[in-house]
Amino acid sequence: MVIGAHVPTAGGLKTALKVGTEIEAEALQIFPSAPLQWKIRGWSDDDCAGFKAEWPKKFSEIVFHGIYLTNLAGASAENVEKTKTALIDTLTLAPKIGVRGTVFHPGTYNGGIEKNATQIKTLIKEILNATPDDSLLVYENSAGSTIGATLEDLAWLIENSSDKNRVAVCLDTCHAFAAGYDITTKEGYDEYIEKVESLIGLDKVFCWHLNDSKFGLGEKRDRHENIGQGKMGAEPFRILLNDPRWASTAGYLEVPGFSDTGPDLKNVTILKELRA
Ligand SMILES: [Zn+2]
Ligand SMILES: [Zn+2]
Repeated sequence: MVIGAHVPTAGGLKTALKVGTEIEAEALQIFPSAPLQWKIRGWSDDDCAGFKAEWPKKFSEIVFHGIYLTNLAGASAENVEKTKTALIDTLTLAPKIGVRGTVFHPGTYNGGIEKNATQIKTLIKEILNATPDDSLLVYENSAGSTIGATLEDLAWLIENSSDKNRVAVCLDTCHAFAAGYDITTKEGYDEYIEKVESLIGLDKVFCWHLNDSKFGLGEKRDRHENIGQGKMGAEPFRILLNDPRWASTAGYLEVPGFSDTGPDLKNVTILKELRA
């Protein structure tokens, strides 16, 4: 597995490259904009072009993590419209800096997927139709109480996307564990991956998020912890990082960091040591 990390862009895209280099990450994840604001700010065309030319010299991939506010099952027309605009703007911005995948949280259940099936399908279709073909919508699994808690949810989203070549999934280790999938043992991990393969397909796993968990198995609490410091421990990461099926897939750290500054050199080093 390629070891990546979420890095800041405060001060511009050059900050992402600087931090990514300092912490010796091999791939980077960034926000297109402040994650708790609807407006996708992006960067100037010059900055985008410069970044697009620069990052492949040091990193194998850059992905976007969409803003936190979007909700495919949004309860109001206003929320649905804002979700659509934010995701269209993000997927349009992505290719300008060489980003293929935009990982995002599908949203709340708001009564269930089936109840909102028409709205979700329509929204996905409108977003894909309005954005470049080389820009992918990547559904992330959730920690238990929102859409994506089960692999069946993710399979439903892929199945109901108007263009299956434009969608994929991101699997977050902390979220899977919090949602009740015990991937901390070899047997549990194998069982989980078999399920991913049969329901979604391994080729549809665009990336992973590598986070330990502050809370226990099935507690449905989304609180990330540094690798090896949480309820999962380091062992599951050793199994995952050395699984040859993910040799060219990136996994991104979204941990608090040992100095509470986010993904750091120490977490990256721990993962590199686990990756034999
Ligand atoms: Zn995540
Ligand atoms: Zn999380």
